[in-house]
Amino acid sequence: MQKANRRYRASENGRACRRKQACRYRQRLKERRVCEPPEEREGYHNAADSKIFRCDRPGCYERFHRTSRSPLKKYCSPACRQALRRVLVREARWRDRLGLT
Ligand SMILES: [Zn+2]
Repeated sequence: MQKANRRYRASENGRACRRKQACRYRQRLKERRVCEPPEEREGYHNAADSKIFRCDRPGCYERFHRTSRSPLKKYCSPACRQALRRVLVREARWRDRLGLT
């Protein structure tokens, strides 16, 4: 009887704790959504089946949708993709020259 009571209280405690955590998590989600620029939400609404990603090029903050045609797209434009490729090639050449490969 005592044991059952203790177990009940422990679970009740745990449940309250988890409830608080979930509540805090939801609160944070809500705040984050409020901070988002409105055009992003609009964009999301227009293309419900594609997700918005940010360009992988450092310094570029363009956003774009991933479509079924290019599900692994990482850059907002061919220009950004090319720029990043050039950097990778250049770095590889440096490593080659320094014998770090
Ligand atoms: Zn870009």
